[in-house]
Amino acid sequence: MNFARSLSPVLITLALSVSALAEDTLTFRYNDAEVTKTGRVIANAESGVILETPDNMMWPILADDLIASKQDATEFAPLDKKQLTEKLLAELPPGFEVHETAHYLICFNTSKAYAYWCGSLYERLYRGFVNYWKQRGVNLVEPTQPMVAVIFDNKQNYAAYGKEELGDAAGSIIGYYSMHTNRVAMYDLTGVDAARAQGSSQRDIARINSILARPEAAYLVATIVHEATHQIAYNCGLQVRLADNPVWVSEGLAIYFETPDLSSSRGWRGIGEVNRIRLPQAKRLVQRPGGQLIASLLVDDDQFRKAETALDAYALAWALNYYLLKRYPDAYANYLKHLSERRPLHDPPREERLAEFQRFITSDLDAFEADFRKVIAGLR
Ligand SMILES: [Zn+2]
Repeated sequence: MNFARSLSPVLITLALSVSALAEDTLTFRYNDAEVTKTGRVIANAESGVILETPDNMMWPILADDLIASKQDATEFAPLDKKQLTEKLLAELPPGFEVHETAHYLICFNTSKAYAYWCGSLYERLYRGFVNYWKQRGVNLVEPTQPMVAVIFDNKQNYAAYGKEELGDAAGSIIGYYSMHTNRVAMYDLTGVDAARAQGSSQRDIARINSILARPEAAYLVATIVHEATHQIAYNCGLQVRLADNPVWVSEGLAIYFETPDLSSSRGWRGIGEVNRIRLPQAKRLVQRPGGQLIASLLVDDDQFRKAETALDAYALAWALNYYLLKRYPDAYANYLKHLSERRPLHDPPREERLAEFQRFITSDLDAFEADFRKVIAGLR
C-alpha cells in the first residue's frame, strides 16, 4: 500500500504552506492519471490547493486528488523567455515555430505571415487595453512571463490539441483562452495553405488582413480578440486567474474590447464601440417588460453555460459593461480593483455579489435598472 495515500488528504494540504521561497513537489490525480509537478502552491484551502508551475500553468487540485507532497528550500523561479520557448517547442507537435513579439510568444505551424498578423493584432490590442485602463486610473502591471498563443494550421489539429480541456466542444469553438495553461489556442482562419504561403512580407500580411477584413469574417476575428482580451486581463492584474470572477464581468469586458480594428497599424479604435453583433439581442431583452435583469445577471453564472440562455446572458453582460463604462467609469473601476484583490479558493458567498454591487455602483438598483434599460434601448 502506498504510504502517502493512506494519509488523510486534508493533513497533506495543511502541511503545505504558501511561501515564495520554497518549491513544492506534488503528486496528484489529474484527468485519471497520476502526475508529479514541481512549482509553488499559490492558494491553499480545506477543499484543495492550486499549484503554479514555472511554465505559468495553474493546477487546481482537490484535496481528495492530492496523493503526496513535499516542500524544499529551492526558490521558485518562473521560466524565462528562452526556457519557455524551448518547453513549448518540446511539448507541441513537430513542425511548430515560435514568433516572438514584445509581450507574446506566438507558436505556429501555419504560415509565418499569419503568425505575424496575429502578433501585430495582439500587441495593438495589448497597448489599447493598457492605455484604456490607465486613462481611467487603473494602472495594470506587465505580465510576469510572455503570453503564449498557439496557432494551428487547421481545425483538425487544433481540435485534437483542445480535446483534453474542452472535450468534443473544441471542434465547434474557433479559439479559447485557458486559465489552466494561460494560453490562447486557435487555428488559421484564412484557410490559406501554409506550404504555399511561407512569406512574412508586408504584402503577405496585408493579404491576410484583407481576407479577414471581409464582413463575413468579423465574427471570427472578434472571437480571436475576445479570447486575447481574457488573456491580457488575467496577465496584467485586472483579473485574477481562478479567483471568483463574476462571469458577467469577465465576459462583458471581453466583448467590450472585441470590436476588431483591422484598419490601423498602430492604435485600436474599436474599444468601447457599440457591439453590432450583441446589440440587437441586448435591445430585445431590455425592452421586454418585467423581471430583474441585473440582479439575475450578477448572481447567476450558470446562464452563461446553458445553451438556451447563453446568447442572452452574453448580450446583457456586454450591455451592462458598456453602460457602466460610459455612465459609471470611476465606480466601476473601483469595483474592478476590489475584485482584483480576491484570491483563488476564497470565494465569497454568491449572495454577497448584490451587496457589493450596491456598495460600489449604486444603492438604488431599481432606478439603475430603469436607466440602464432606457439607455440600451436607445442605442443606435
Ligand atoms: Zn469569453
